[in-house]
Amino acid sequence: MSKETMEFQAETKQLLDLMVNSIYTNKEIFLRELISNASDAIDKLHFESLTNREMLEGDENFEIFLVPDKNSHTLTISDNGIGMNRDEVVENIGTIAKSGTKAFLEQMAKAKSEGVSEKDLIGQFGVGFYSAFMVADKVTLVTRRAGSEKNSATRWESTGDGSYTIEECEKESRGTIITLELKSEFFGEESELNLTDDWEIRQLVKKYSDYVRYPIKMNFEIEESKKDDDGNPIEGEKITRSEIRTVNSMQPLWTRPKSELKDEDYREFFKQQFREWEEPLEYFHTKAEGTVEYTALLCIPKRAPFNLYYSDFEAGVQLYSRHVFIMDKCKDLLPDYLRFIKGLVDSPDLSLNISRELLQQSRELKQIGRALEKSILKQLSKILESDRSKYETFWNEFGKSFKIGIYNSMYGNRDTVDKLKDLLMFASSKDQNLTTLKEYVSRMPESQKKIFYATAKDRETIESLPQMETLKEKGFEVLYLLDPVDEFTLETLHEYSEKHFQSIARGDLDLDDAESQEVKKETEEIAKTSEDLLKSIKDSLGEKISEAKISTRLKSSAVCLVASEQGPSISMEQTFAEMKNPMFKAQRILEINPKHALFEKLQQLHESKDDAKFKDACELLYDQALLIEGILPENPVAFANRVADLMARA
Ligand code: ADP
Repeated sequence: MSKETMEFQAETKQLLDLMVNSIYTNKEIFLRELISNASDAIDKLHFESLTNREMLEGDENFEIFLVPDKNSHTLTISDNGIGMNRDEVVENIGTIAKSGTKAFLEQMAKAKSEGVSEKDLIGQFGVGFYSAFMVADKVTLVTRRAGSEKNSATRWESTGDGSYTIEECEKESRGTIITLELKSEFFGEESELNLTDDWEIRQLVKKYSDYVRYPIKMNFEIEESKKDDDGNPIEGEKITRSEIRTVNSMQPLWTRPKSELKDEDYREFFKQQFREWEEPLEYFHTKAEGTVEYTALLCIPKRAPFNLYYSDFEAGVQLYSRHVFIMDKCKDLLPDYLRFIKGLVDSPDLSLNISRELLQQSRELKQIGRALEKSILKQLSKILESDRSKYETFWNEFGKSFKIGIYNSMYGNRDTVDKLKDLLMFASSKDQNLTTLKEYVSRMPESQKKIFYATAKDRETIESLPQMETLKEKGFEVLYLLDPVDEFTLETLHEYSEKHFQSIARGDLDLDDAESQEVKKETEEIAKTSEDLLKSIKDSLGEKISEAKISTRLKSSAVCLVASEQGPSISMEQTFAEMKNPMFKAQRILEINPKHALFEKLQQLHESKDDAKFKDACELLYDQALLIEGILPENPVAFANRVADLMARA
């Protein structure tokens, strides 16, 4: 096939623009990105070759080779990994398929419009291959898939503008060679970052890629004294000799004794091994000997990746057996609610030459997973007790996955509830801080029988809810559920410390104290005398509500909408609707405040038998109640017209 010029996809162009215009100050990280890609490519080949040895083409010496060239002003990074065929090059290098990258671009656009520095943002993303354009005017990639014909290799070339060229070529060895034609500021003696200098490149490898598990090799020109026939150096006579050296230490950190390792070693390790930009929030180094033997090195990153809850997020830790790499993202080791954990497990009890499927079912893997899950949760409760602010940082980043975990356990493992319930945090009416359920319960006054909660998108909305007034007066604390998943979580929990959860927007509040009993009695009496009125309201609103009731929970507002005790709540219904799942409908109950002046007006209207006016009033009431819940009236125009009519009459 002849040479073809192809356009980058729009999003790729955007990303390239960012790289070419180099908004990221720390440009040297491009090397780590390319070395990581090379190392990943070798992993892939290694893994596939377990079942298909022919792919190795007789060469099992995996390596990455770096060639900085002072004469041509280039830096070449090559690997003998899996390589790519033409379609894979177009697919992997020409497009951005990952929603993580899309999310990144969206964040960038947002940052721009909000005046946030882009530099602060870019550090949170692995931008991968394209980072090469931060230092290069032109990038050439020549690659051949392991096991394919020697003349079926692919050459890809781009200067980072809108397009790239692609053509067929020959390549003797399998794998990928990437050649960077360096921008003028990245070569030469004067350059601050001289990428054609052997020693500078060596430093970068040491700094960013020391633990890469394949040898990263370079050819060094070594100057030494000439030796005479007896091997003694001859004064004043020098020769240069070239020698290939491995520049990364490769020694797996976790094989070194704990006592030898310093905090910085671990912190640096996680950054290198898992392409993290920041040091971890917390890390664990555990060794176990017994029925199963293993070493685990795990961490909680400081920040949640943007795609943590997207389907393209790949959770899982690395698996090794006797320090030999088996697999990159083993999803089956830890439960899904720990999807944010990064790290690795090395165990002689895991078999090397075993298929992914069988490995997933292995008893040893399950045992290790359970033990690690336990120690992670234990560590988290320790942090919760001893370092509140650290725990809150954790919670703000990853709390959602615990909440989803509890919700998901509804259909599976109820154990999850017991494991996680004491680690949950919520905002509350007490103050601006987060509270655990245990703390909430410890503050409950004797007269309070239930754990109250309210849902909305922010504190202000909840604080202005009509139902809040009564509870506030009684000194009952209310949990603020500000994330749509919160309510699902509490629904699944059902109770905490034998106290049931009660939405303040649902069913009967059942406040048991004397005053509430009094109000309840009063309400029942009013309800009795207003039976006709309530029935007429229900009739005139039809299917929109399941019932009209006299309210015990309202103070100054005229109406509110609550959901019945059974079935989804109104905010859950909204969440389902957003997920395009309108099957779940809340039973809406319209509650009317009998102490509000409007109630009397309504009674008068009802008695006047002016059906049209009465119906209008009911519709208005209902729409108001919807608005309080943050839901748009079904017919906003009709609502606006009714309000306008009212104002005209007033
Ligand atoms: P990421 O590595 O995060 O997936 P990159 O932009 O760095 O993103 O790379 C995109 C894809 O290109 C990789 O997922 C991989 O499939 C392919 N790729 C990149 N470098 C190599 C390489 N040296 N050998 C084989 N494939 C590669």
